[in-house]
Amino acid sequence: MKLSVIGCGYLGAVHAASMAQLGHDVVGIDTDTAKVELLAAGRVPFHEPGFEELLQSSLASGRLRFSPDMAQAAGSKVHFVCVGTPQKRGEYAADLRYVESATESLIEVLAPGELVVGKSTVPVGTAARLAELVTGKAPGALLAWNPEFLREGFAVQDTLHPDRLVYGLPAGADGDTARALLDEVYASIEADGTPQVVTDYATAEMVKTAANSFLATKISFINAMAELCEATGADVKQLADAIGYDDRIGRKFLNAGLGFGGGCLPKDIRAFMARAGELGADQALTFLREVDNINMRRRIRMVELAREVCDGSLLGKRIAVLGAAFKPDSDDIRDSPALNVAAQLQLQGATVRVTDPAAGDNIRRSWPQLDVVDSAEEAAERADAVLVLTEWKQFRELDPVAFGRVVARKAVLDGRQALDRDVWEAAGWSYRALGRRAG
Ligand code: NAD
Repeated sequence: MKLSVIGCGYLGAVHAASMAQLGHDVVGIDTDTAKVELLAAGRVPFHEPGFEELLQSSLASGRLRFSPDMAQAAGSKVHFVCVGTPQKRGEYAADLRYVESATESLIEVLAPGELVVGKSTVPVGTAARLAELVTGKAPGALLAWNPEFLREGFAVQDTLHPDRLVYGLPAGADGDTARALLDEVYASIEADGTPQVVTDYATAEMVKTAANSFLATKISFINAMAELCEATGADVKQLADAIGYDDRIGRKFLNAGLGFGGGCLPKDIRAFMARAGELGADQALTFLREVDNINMRRRIRMVELAREVCDGSLLGKRIAVLGAAFKPDSDDIRDSPALNVAAQLQLQGATVRVTDPAAGDNIRRSWPQLDVVDSAEEAAERADAVLVLTEWKQFRELDPVAFGRVVARKAVLDGRQALDRDVWEAAGWSYRALGRRAG
């Protein structure tokens, strides 16, 4: 089947290469010509495990190509829209300009019988509006919404083996036509027994924002418990283990720490709140404001903790920040809690050195004021405190004995419950973590 994928960022590039892997003939379109050139040459513009191999094998199969020219999307039976929907500057709402302009330019090349499939995360109501635009300007073409749930760090696996497929379809016979096309695209994934939810546009759009709101709430719930643990001397890790044994609760997403960041959760809950306000239903989501507040407070608390271990003042103290990506196995530093903390420490007079196994270049580009080094040892040289802010395997596996020789003071703050406390304490380190007792 001939497919186009409009927008080749974290979502679209992986989607394009995965669809080619499934046997489709795919063209990826992106307005960023540098990104297109990299992808076309088999080079990855971002860090994602398994993606480089997938990209290269899909290119080698001859079934995948990239172009900056929307005209190349002509003739594809299905067109996936995967462009960004960032937070608007100074507002909570999502900025839909990329989705709108991508759809407008796609319309120019659409032929009757073709299907536009939105994958970007959008405020509820967007699909219905775009469907009117598509059917009005390109008669005979249809639109469906098929939200994406991939996790960065597991994007390839999640695209080829998703937990579920959600199809938001127009009503009536058009819905059947759109469904048949989606069934053809995802035939091999459906054949694996992947659950499907076939629904209307609004439900499909909301599945995505509801899922992200739930995950954000679960993280902020345990972080609120961490605040309370700090006030009472209880231990949030044991608390999470104990409540997590209850199947109804589950242990996943109950790691107290520095909270969520990245290009999805923060902006998605804010856009959801903004949309609820527009719909006159803002009360339904006021709890998300608290979820956001709890999340942001963790960053402030981490800076306070660093100040505490530095004897009450950060001025002139040397701090090593291990990790900058918003999660391990990614180089994505959008709304990175680690970098937020690093910048605050620097503002308070600390000399901060940051290291990250994959995000170095991104930090240098976006946070030129930060000193970025290539290894944990270099970051920690003569440090007064070491902060582990992204739980990369490389940091989990540090040898606290050897690592202890490079620092000025063996004080570690574990922002992600990444380290084995007993082992670090046995090596002479003072160990502090959010929501856990001081040793
Ligand atoms: P991204 O910023 O990495 O990629 C967006 C791409 O779209 C960029 O390469 C940009 O150049 C391109 N683009 C913008 N306007 C264009 C146009 N008119 N024509 C062609 N290309 C255009 O963003 P992302 O992380 O891939 O996210 C894309 C969407 O997917 C967002 O709505 C996001 O919320 C959603 N999503 C992302 C993830 C994730 O883990 N990153 C997961 C699920 C859903």
